[in-house]
Amino acid sequence: MKYAKNILETIGNTPLVQLNKLTEDIDALVLAKVETFNPGNSVKDRMAVKMIEDAEADGRLQPGGTIIEGTSGNTGMGLALAAIIKGYKLICVISDKQSKEKIDILRAVGAEVVVCPTNVEPTDPRSYYSVSKRLAEETPNAWYVNQYDNPSNAIAHYEQTGPEIWEQTEGKITHFIVGVGTGGTISGVGKYLKEKNPDIKIWGVDTYGSVFKKYHETGVFDENEVYPYITEGIGEDILPKNVDFSIIDGFTKVTDKDAAVYTRKIAKEEGIFVGNSAGAAIKGMLQLKQHFTKDDVVVVLFHDSGSRYVAKMFNDDWMRERGFLEVAVTKAGDLIAQ
Ligand code: PMP
Repeated sequence: MKYAKNILETIGNTPLVQLNKLTEDIDALVLAKVETFNPGNSVKDRMAVKMIEDAEADGRLQPGGTIIEGTSGNTGMGLALAAIIKGYKLICVISDKQSKEKIDILRAVGAEVVVCPTNVEPTDPRSYYSVSKRLAEETPNAWYVNQYDNPSNAIAHYEQTGPEIWEQTEGKITHFIVGVGTGGTISGVGKYLKEKNPDIKIWGVDTYGSVFKKYHETGVFDENEVYPYITEGIGEDILPKNVDFSIIDGFTKVTDKDAAVYTRKIAKEEGIFVGNSAGAAIKGMLQLKQHFTKDDVVVVLFHDSGSRYVAKMFNDDWMRERGFLEVAVTKAGDLIAQ
């Protein structure tokens, strides 16, 4: 019989899928690593389990303990699945910018969810960084995950996601393009791929309102780069330890509107129902197309599922209210959303 002993054993070995329509004017082969196929519907399952296993191994996490994390939802989902199987309690501290579905989903898998305001300084006691740290100090037998600075995050991608992409492309990958939040995905995958072939180009996709691109180019942390933005999952107002700037060749920034529009295009044109950072990643890839030749193999990673954005990027009213929806008039005079 062929079966997994529990749901955690189904993590990884996600498919690599050729993109056809969105890439019509690109000669290179463009492939998407679709991480929605993980049981928690995102790439984050991989690092959640790795962070827990490493904390168990060195005693930071004790039997029956409480796991605490400031998470935008996907890491929380991965941690929740692992907590259920391994017998831990989970508290997720989340910012109010995140979609309601993300919060409801976390509660569905048994997590306690604490919601904090988005537009306060990271050092403000109400911020989700501060609240998660305080809860970790106050709760007995608690372990604070800290995915931003926890090295197991990038190591999970060095051990799993990187080797999978290398093997699936039979070593032919030439470019890896991915949205950057904690930096775990780009740094782990990028390190593995560069060790295999230093000529592989690693590009990060950043958002307007985030510090990464400017910091990579100048070495200066510029506070003027920080302002509120809508894109979910990528960009930061801090420099997480998990971002290894030395393996990144460059960043490209994608606007909130483009990220939202391209999230919808991936679903409509490729039949792949993925989240907002995948829209940013694909638009980022298109912005970089002058770097590709016809023999290149470009891999773009899709972090999570579109189901978490049904009330946002996939909702016409939400899009229209933000001026993100272009409306065209057909010959018959009907209005159609694009
Ligand atoms: N996209 C989504 C939807 C995410 O949840 C995250 C994690 N914040 C990212 C992209 C960025 O991945 P990483 O943290 O590994 O840089």
